[in-house]
Amino acid sequence: MIGCECSTCRSDDSRDRRLRPSVFIQSDSGTRLLVDAGPDLRAQALAYGVTRVEAIIFTHGHADHILGLDDVRRFNSVMQKPMPLHADEVTLGEIRRMFGYVFDAQTPKGGGLPQLELYAIEGPFTIGDQRIEPVPIWHGKRQILGFRIGRFAYLTDCSGIPESSWPLLGDLEVVVLDALRERPHPTHFSLQEAIEAAGRIGAGRTYLTHMCHDLPHAATCERLPAHVTLAYDGLRVDVREH
Ligand SMILES: [Zn+2]
Ligand SMILES: [Zn+2]
Ligand SMILES: [Zn+2]
Repeated sequence: MIGCECSTCRSDDSRDRRLRPSVFIQSDSGTRLLVDAGPDLRAQALAYGVTRVEAIIFTHGHADHILGLDDVRRFNSVMQKPMPLHADEVTLGEIRRMFGYVFDAQTPKGGGLPQLELYAIEGPFTIGDQRIEPVPIWHGKRQILGFRIGRFAYLTDCSGIPESSWPLLGDLEVVVLDALRERPHPTHFSLQEAIEAAGRIGAGRTYLTHMCHDLPHAATCERLPAHVTLAYDGLRVDVREH
């Protein structure tokens, strides 16, 4: 955190250096997806060798999940095609507003604009060989989307799971869950709430994400239940299907 001298912010454990939340998903047959495009997209793509992406799917339109969209220009040139973006209607509206210059026909093209194709998520959809199932979750009073792909689910920015979404979360090998800090927060799971949700989901492994500096990596992991751990930047996870 800018201007913070706490022990997490001064830690020399690389797992305490956290960029904004996002995941890159690659299937065995080579379909590559990005979930969210936060302000650190460029740095993350360079650090982890993300050179091609077939589509970006969005959980919601908060700044920490969409502000990297301008850097999609580079994927456009590498792949020689526009980038498909999949999001719910509210989020598509936020993207159009936040990136007004991209969608304004008057904008001079000289500086280069990202080429984006917007698709509204209205139910399960397919990209390449990947079937993506939206999982509605609560982010405070707003309903946003988590996603299930095979036996993997990604539920960031989550403060509650509606009853109707629980049946979508059975038989998971890996789930990624929001856990901001110890103290309760109106729009994110606390650590305890995340642990309880993890227990009810019962996935083979649970990784927590979106932590703030209140949760140092090593010390927090020591007191987590079995099969629950904090994720960290650069973590790679293999997910087996049956
Ligand atoms: Zn700090
Ligand atoms: Zn958010
Ligand atoms: Zn967020």
